[in-house]
Amino acid sequence: TKPLIEVKHLKKYYETGHGKNHVLKAVDDVSFHVNKGEIFGIVGESGCGKSTMGKSLIRLIEPTAGEVWLEGEDIAQLPAKQMRQKRQDMQIVFQDPFASLNPRMKVFNIIEEPLINFNTGTKQSRKERVYEVAKQVGLTEKQLERYPHEFSGGQRQRIGIARALVSNPKLIIADEPVSALDVSIQSQVLNIMKDLNERFDLTFIFISHDLNVVHHFCDRIGVMYLGKLVEVADKHELFTNPKHPYTQALLSALPKSHPNESKQRTILHGDVPSPTNPPSGCTFHTRCPNVMAICKTHSPQLQMHEPEHQVSCLLYEEEVVVHK
Ligand code: SF4
Ligand code: MG
Repeated sequence: TKPLIEVKHLKKYYETGHGKNHVLKAVDDVSFHVNKGEIFGIVGESGCGKSTMGKSLIRLIEPTAGEVWLEGEDIAQLPAKQMRQKRQDMQIVFQDPFASLNPRMKVFNIIEEPLINFNTGTKQSRKERVYEVAKQVGLTEKQLERYPHEFSGGQRQRIGIARALVSNPKLIIADEPVSALDVSIQSQVLNIMKDLNERFDLTFIFISHDLNVVHHFCDRIGVMYLGKLVEVADKHELFTNPKHPYTQALLSALPKSHPNESKQRTILHGDVPSPTNPPSGCTFHTRCPNVMAICKTHSPQLQMHEPEHQVSCLLYEEEVVVHK
């Protein structure tokens, strides 16, 4: 498998006032890759920068720095006009399907709209394509003549997925796509996406605060904390052998049915610190149950610890062990 997308040192900083203490590092030097046909999960608490990361990737928000390689091309460097055209390869599905659907448009037109924006096909071929994707997400042709308010949350998310799918993208970024839905509906929507992944080898970046959902749905997982990726591994590896103290704490808070059930529960104290004024050294040190003196002054780097298992924690950086 080759990476479909490779993200290198992606940053999104916001200036929030005057002086150097007023830079909000929403995304701070994030690097990862996603293979073709893979479902890559990004998990973290709200405010950790995962949504900003997803949007910066496809330049719905302009990144401050970094590279985003899509099939050999750095799309972070593309001029705006080319980028607009490129965006049909990378679509996004949002958390709140209702807010992202135009209430005055019929569902057919909502789904067709990206094709018109990208100047794709004839009226007839567009119609066929809309019917095709509607079928793939379980919407009937009759339903396409209705308006978004006539649909339930789960059905609206089907519309959102169909709209993302219609331009035949290579990558779909799904940003908390089921968080607003009832648990009973969540699996229906996840199954639609899983089916698209399996049938068309469609690649997903799946952003969620919900570890259970990520565990169920994703192949590989990246854990984010305060704008940084702190651990990346295959989902089975991450759930059975978590290395970062933050991941360990998140997993220990899950109900006992998980493979790590023998582990003791770790309670994280305190709130997530403000990203405008993050702690020195390892930004997790204010909440870390394993904190060492050096963690307050030394920033760990995301490093390959075992094959296919990256972690950013000084417990695993051999060169600093002597200073512990
Ligand atoms: Fe905890 Fe130190 Fe590792 Fe940070 S570097 S996660 S504070 S042990
Ligand atoms: Mg797959």
